[in-house]
Amino acid sequence: MKIDRKEIISALETITVAGEGKNMVESGALQNVMTFDDEVVVDLVLNSPALHIKKRAEVDVMKAIHQKVYEKAKVTVNIKVDAPETKSKKPEIKGKPIPGIKNIIAVASGKGGVGKSTVTANLAVSLSKMGFKVGVLDADVYGPSVPLMFDVAAERPLSVTVDGKSKMKPVENYGIKILSIGFFTKPNQAVIWRGPMAAKALNQMIFDADWGELDFLLVDLPPGTGDIHLSIMQSLPISGSVVVSTPQNVALADAKKGVAMFQQESINVPVLGIVENMAYFTPEELPENKYYIFGEHGARNLAEDLQVPFLGEIPLVQSLRESGDIGRPAAMQEGTPLEEAFQEITRNVVQETVNRNETLPPTEAIKITTMAGCSSVKK
Ligand code: ADP
Repeated sequence: MKIDRKEIISALETITVAGEGKNMVESGALQNVMTFDDEVVVDLVLNSPALHIKKRAEVDVMKAIHQKVYEKAKVTVNIKVDAPETKSKKPEIKGKPIPGIKNIIAVASGKGGVGKSTVTANLAVSLSKMGFKVGVLDADVYGPSVPLMFDVAAERPLSVTVDGKSKMKPVENYGIKILSIGFFTKPNQAVIWRGPMAAKALNQMIFDADWGELDFLLVDLPPGTGDIHLSIMQSLPISGSVVVSTPQNVALADAKKGVAMFQQESINVPVLGIVENMAYFTPEELPENKYYIFGEHGARNLAEDLQVPFLGEIPLVQSLRESGDIGRPAAMQEGTPLEEAFQEITRNVVQETVNRNETLPPTEAIKITTMAGCSSVKK
């Protein structure tokens, strides 16, 4: 079978390039097509370094050729990335580097109550199970819930002396180091913080604390996109952000603002991706039944529209709420669908962090460039 090159080009004209509204040929993404009998080699150049966009292009090309030209064609797709925007918009890392802390990841949500802290706690547990050293900094001044979720609400950080200086020692449980704004405020006390005050308190919890060596420090941000966020992000060297949303329209509108906040010029923190929480309700005794209470795939579609990675989805299940309330994150329970779901999200976060560290200019923060440490993850 000899494949006609023109037919391949016509097939590729049916593929739209994400975000450009043009087809692959018109947009200039297609660089070259070569055919040898039943073999086809397609060279593409894409603007985005995001792994999911590369994968998507590869799958689309294969599908178009197999469906429209010849179903047994042997297709090779070579993809180069030319990301002028990323190069020109160098995300500079603000704030001083923190010796020993390799990656600081901010977890945000536009709207409150969408499960930002739940995702942070379980992400921390999954990362730790992969062999990474993990800390959690709970910066949610409006409702610091991380101490409850790790069953350390009654504890307080001790003071230790390091190199002649007095430092706060994070509280530790399940192998994860924790500091929370909740350790320094009375329970049920409505705290009115202004941005600079919160930033100052958080700076102390980062720079005047004895975190030791950490691969990941997760920062659970307050909900919303106010001046408190600007102050925090302008003073801390944040390497990337994760945005949590439910599929509901009101939550999505706020998540969009959250992504826009990270991408605005004065902040410029790479968005590692979006997590869809409460994606559907599933009764634990009937795991095959899914009820899309808040709408279907809203956050997944938002990620696609905004061209940021989709990191995965978590169902609405009673046991996740219960595990949060008793302070044992659900991802700790081996062999459960929830453990699996959080593992998948965590693998994607690590992969996007690796991509970020490889594709964006080196920063003062030390970087992770391999998935090493993930070998213990069950596939
Ligand atoms: P946020 O940090 O966004 O305010 P939380 O993580 O504190 O939200 O979650 C709010 C409440 O919803 C908590 O009681 C939590 O246990 C519960 N929750 C979060 N996600 C889920 C889920 N997928 N299934 C069931 N309960 C959930």
